[in-house]
Amino acid sequence: MTAEATLAQIAGEVAKCTNCGLHHSRKHAVPGEGPATSEIMFIGEGPGFHENEQGRPFVGAAGKFLDELLAQAGLKRTDVWIGNVVKCRPPENRDPQPDELSACNVYLERQIAAINPKIIITLGRYSMAKFMPGVKISQVHGQMRRVGDRFVIAMFHPAAALHQAALKPSIMADFSKLPQLLEQARTALAKSSPAAKAKEPPEEEPKQLKMF
Ligand code: URA
Ligand code: SF4
Repeated sequence: MTAEATLAQIAGEVAKCTNCGLHHSRKHAVPGEGPATSEIMFIGEGPGFHENEQGRPFVGAAGKFLDELLAQAGLKRTDVWIGNVVKCRPPENRDPQPDELSACNVYLERQIAAINPKIIITLGRYSMAKFMPGVKISQVHGQMRRVGDRFVIAMFHPAAALHQAALKPSIMADFSKLPQLLEQARTALAKSSPAAKAKEPPEEEPKQLKMF
């Protein structure tokens, strides 16, 4: 199955999912959207009011700000994949609960496996905690870290930056570094790909062995 077909299948399952209590209050599930070939996946928290109405991620005020931040990094919304750690809106936009996060995790895992992005950008603390447990956003935001086969960058949530003026320059600076970080990620991953490894000259025999 192509990555695109896999994403469509996941979206179909999410739309009917009843694996946690959040399905009771949803109008539309929000599986996430973007090309199956995206090099970057943005992962937020969960749908809010507008997202629940439209079934699409980041379409309210935070989404408008995210569009501006993407433009600042020379990216369009259609260049990247955007989704959330929970696919259905928590009532009154409350924080997602541990049982809801763990019930929904399988969908995000399958989406990441299908897309195989070079960089995952976490927006807010729930998605950050999934990839970098125990870190503080104030200490790590904007820094790129290798996590398994890809890189992860934690950024402030655009909604937080809208509400706390002090965070705005910080999130804008982090986004403006993105083109450069993407180039670094491409280079590093090309070097560590199985194809690149196969082309490397064989390692020399250790010296001691050569003496015999
Ligand atoms: N905030 C999020 O975390 N996700 C959305 O999709 C919208 C707002
Ligand atoms: Fe299913 Fe996730 Fe929606 Fe819960 S939040 S009902 S696990 S799709």
